[in-house]
Amino acid sequence: MTDLSDDITSIATDADNIIQNFQLDNSSLRGRMVRLGSELDDIITSHEYPDIINQLVSETLVVAVSLASMLKYDGIFTLQIQTSGPITMLVADQTSTGHIRACASYDKDALDALIKDRGNEKLGIDVLLGKGHMAFTVDQGPDTERYQGIVELKGKTLVESVQHYFNQSEQIGSGIKMACDKIDGQWRASVIMLQHMPEDQANTEAGNGNAIEDDWRRTMILLETCTAEELVSPDLDAPALLYRLFHEEGLRIFEPKFVKKQCRCEKDKLVNAVRMMPQDDIDHIFDEDSAKLKCEFCSKVYTITKDDLDLE
Ligand SMILES: [Zn+2]
Repeated sequence: MTDLSDDITSIATDADNIIQNFQLDNSSLRGRMVRLGSELDDIITSHEYPDIINQLVSETLVVAVSLASMLKYDGIFTLQIQTSGPITMLVADQTSTGHIRACASYDKDALDALIKDRGNEKLGIDVLLGKGHMAFTVDQGPDTERYQGIVELKGKTLVESVQHYFNQSEQIGSGIKMACDKIDGQWRASVIMLQHMPEDQANTEAGNGNAIEDDWRRTMILLETCTAEELVSPDLDAPALLYRLFHEEGLRIFEPKFVKKQCRCEKDKLVNAVRMMPQDDIDHIFDEDSAKLKCEFCSKVYTITKDDLDLE
């Protein structure tokens, strides 16, 4: 992946909106911490979703950014969750230049009915999303192969589904700790992900795994001590939190990379999409000669006219 710190130097002093890679030399593990603050909050406030959805959009985005940071790619990484509802879709993507966006689709009546039915009970994704799957796609342009991974949603949290994905598809042990919360009116999200180095994975498979297993268990216990409050605290930056957790494990912290809210919608793309629609649907969205269409990702409203559709 490109070094984003060259790209977005203006916010390089920000302690939030970062991908912080690190390594634990004593236990031969590598990790990354993603910390989202103002950029996530901008994304959330551009939508007008209820908080129960804001929470899931935050989780989807922070997971997407951490998974994208594991890959070398030049293009767009997308995490898409599609389900039987009431929240029918969650999407987050990140370009290799660090631009992020996220949105959700949901059935308002079904969600209201569910919340009314369950009261203050904390609802897991098994209830909010129902049955469905999580797909990862990397799009590197028209003449390249699309990388795609897919996994069924499992358990009550998105983290459980991601862990299920790693266990099944990649066979990489992974420790993940995630938290999202609204603090002083601002949405924040954070994740720490730990993984074996590839050479240790090979060692484990070759049966040299005892010392490695001990390292893994010890580090997972340290990761478990990390609280949700610490993960999203505006007063505890990523290096300070990582030091607090892993200072005895030979912690090495690398230069952070930065992410930024940026949509890729364009009027031309929207016009092309409308041209592909059946005539009935086109008639339905047009009020006289023009139609107002809202980008699902950033809520920007575009006005298109029938003349736009006729132009070559
Ligand atoms: Zn947009």
